[in-house]
Amino acid sequence: MDSVADAADRRPLRLFFVPYFASGHLIPLVDIARFLAVRGVDSTILATPCNAALVRATVDAAAAAGLWIQLLEYPFPSAESGLPPGVENISALPPSECHKIDYAIPFTRPTLEHLLGLHRPDAIVADAHFPWTIDIARKLGIPRITFGAVGLLAYCVSQNVLENRPFKDVARDDERIPIQDLPHPLLLARSELPVYLVQDTVFGSLIKEASEDYKASLGLIINSFAEFEGIYLDYFRRVFEIKPWFVGPISLNDSESRSFGVRGGGADPSAVGNRARCLSWLSEQKPSSVVYACFGSWSQFTGEQLGEMALGLEASGHPFLWVVREADGTEWMPHGFEQRVKGRGLVLWGWAPQVELLSHAAIGAFVTHCGWNSILEGVSSGLPMVTWPIGTEQFINEKLVVERFRVGVQVSDKIRSATDPNQTIVMAAELAKAIGSIMDAGETAEGMRRRSRELAEKARAAVAKGGSSDKGLNDLIEDIYVWHDNKKSAAGEAVDI
Ligand code: UDP
Repeated sequence: MDSVADAADRRPLRLFFVPYFASGHLIPLVDIARFLAVRGVDSTILATPCNAALVRATVDAAAAAGLWIQLLEYPFPSAESGLPPGVENISALPPSECHKIDYAIPFTRPTLEHLLGLHRPDAIVADAHFPWTIDIARKLGIPRITFGAVGLLAYCVSQNVLENRPFKDVARDDERIPIQDLPHPLLLARSELPVYLVQDTVFGSLIKEASEDYKASLGLIINSFAEFEGIYLDYFRRVFEIKPWFVGPISLNDSESRSFGVRGGGADPSAVGNRARCLSWLSEQKPSSVVYACFGSWSQFTGEQLGEMALGLEASGHPFLWVVREADGTEWMPHGFEQRVKGRGLVLWGWAPQVELLSHAAIGAFVTHCGWNSILEGVSSGLPMVTWPIGTEQFINEKLVVERFRVGVQVSDKIRSATDPNQTIVMAAELAKAIGSIMDAGETAEGMRRRSRELAEKARAAVAKGGSSDKGLNDLIEDIYVWHDNKKSAAGEAVDI
């Protein structure tokens, strides 16, 4: 791939990346750092020890392949934030307490300020959870770029709800109302909104206070693609007044990565063994026959819900590969389940090589919690999906899959809660029916599979040379150079960066 730096005969940019303490944010930002490095950028990722361990294999493999990329560790402020040593990622906390990781963010500021001041990069690319990095960037005379780990629709809906307060006169939490002004009709219930929009949370206050900081950023990097979410660009630009760069699906760039199998699971002792186990099992399955079910990096279900999930996968009649994060016992497992599904179902505890599995020929459908990365990874693999959102902005993401692109079906039509996902149990029969509607024979399922394949082709074209997201990455680099050129010419200096 051409290096934008070389092409323009300029010195390579040095960018520092500040990821948030969640795998769904860390993994794509490391991918972005890597694919910028492929274009000649010198990328440094600032990470605390436990988070660095998750991505070290990926970064080391990229560096060994000759890319300018490195990790720079800084201490996690455990004592200051009141979090136990070793708890540095939301996946180390129960879902109901994962917001506590945000307590640490203000305490990282002095260290980050010191490191960024010491190394003086050409720009800071910081997760949206670190809004005050704009002040550091200003002091250093460099631009700050924001990384948004969710899609453009989620940004638009969140801002719409904050500004227009459409739920203010709605008495019931489970009543769906239209969200106005978006390019297509969209119905949501208050209970389906991310918790930071309905309750006071540290992150909620951060984003409310940070809207001016957002605007002061050079722009927002979005892991999405124009053919998927371009329809929201006008609305986004109007309400945020900030430039977005589409650069995704970033995981699609990964087909040649040697660290593929441990992507994001580097510190998980289960990752390597799980990979060998499931690839061997999948090699014995028929093409497009297996339902892959995985619910991201930090979600957890109650035993009752896990039991129903097991029965639903069994009742679907299709082979399945089910990734279970809940490590505490198996008492929820229905009596005789493992014996009955032997050979047809594989339960995988811990970390799965998700991107690699989704592109495996034996996988035919994806049961997903609608985390943003999982949605993009499902779309990129051309798989129809059963959508089972459980929290954060996942009920918004689901709309893209089920309503806008019709490449998936909801696991249940019950209105559930993003704040208390285990309040409403999804029954086995609902899951089995949803799986059947995308896996069984028939025109409806075939239409879903065809649309999924077509959308995947568009995703691949977006990241291919000359595609919309390939241009997005190049534009991002160019915009940073232009920012520096403008600064120098304003100061009357020779432009040499
Ligand atoms: N992931 C994985 N193996 C697992 C669980 C998750 O590789 O066993 C990856 C998945 O491919 C995705 C990320 O972790 O890239 C999870 O991000 P997402 O936004 O889907 O969900 P979150 O974990 O943030 O809820």
